Amino acid sequence: MIDSHCHLAHVEADPADTLAAARDAGVSTVIDIAMGLAECEASTARFGPCAIGIHPNELEEFQADPSGAMTRLAELAGRPNVVGIGETGLDFFRERSGEALQVAAFRAHIDLAKQADKALVIHCRDAHDAVLEVLDDAGAPSRVVMHCFSGDEAFAMKCAARGFFCSFAGNVTYKRNTDLRRAATSLPTELVLVETDAPFLTPEPHRGKPNAPSLLPITATRLASELQMPLEELSRRLDDNTRRAFSL
Ligand SMILES: [Zn+2]
Ligand SMILES: [Zn+2]
Repeated sequence: MIDSHCHLAHVEADPADTLAAARDAGVSTVIDIAMGLAECEASTARFGPCAIGIHPNELEEFQADPSGAMTRLAELAGRPNVVGIGETGLDFFRERSGEALQVAAFRAHIDLAKQADKALVIHCRDAHDAVLEVLDDAGAPSRVVMHCFSGDEAFAMKCAARGFFCSFAGNVTYKRNTDLRRAATSLPTELVLVETDAPFLTPEPHRGKPNAPSLLPITATRLASELQMPLEELSRRLDDNTRRAFSL
């Protein structure tokens, strides 16, 4: 299995130990999502696949010097293990940066993803319509991943119509998230991905503890049961989808 979205820099254990534990649990590949220039430097210097960007909740570096920050990201995007640009997008829930600044940074990441021909990894919280508006206006890159998918069935259909991949995290196991499970089952399976977003969004029954890529099979198992598909078959499909999404 492939964990399509994990923050190795934020998992407490050493990345090598985290990856070894993941492998023991059947998770052979972990896409490391680096947030901010320092993490991007560190992640691109490691061996495994990573995505690089400046998170919509932490835009200070972008705000201070937009073209300098994006130039550095563009340079790092040339390193061989970079498979995605982001996470980027809009977060109107936490809204630590103003909406206009978030849109400017999002647009700059969209441009970079197109220019570098990388998957665009999108963080979207309480901003579903706005995210689609910006993407439609700017022109979406050929490969888009809605990470930690949080919409309902109607939003899933809008993403599917655009060919966007939708990645489900541990919150798909939470009791109250029936809409999220309905969204997952309404999508064409070739657009579904799975992720941990570790160390965040720990799946049930481990909620309250930090998440790790080794817990990915729990979320995949839940998705398989919702989709009424054997886990082995779903795992193969998710694997295929993730390889297509990130050109692995
Ligand atoms: Zn996110
Ligand atoms: Zn994330």
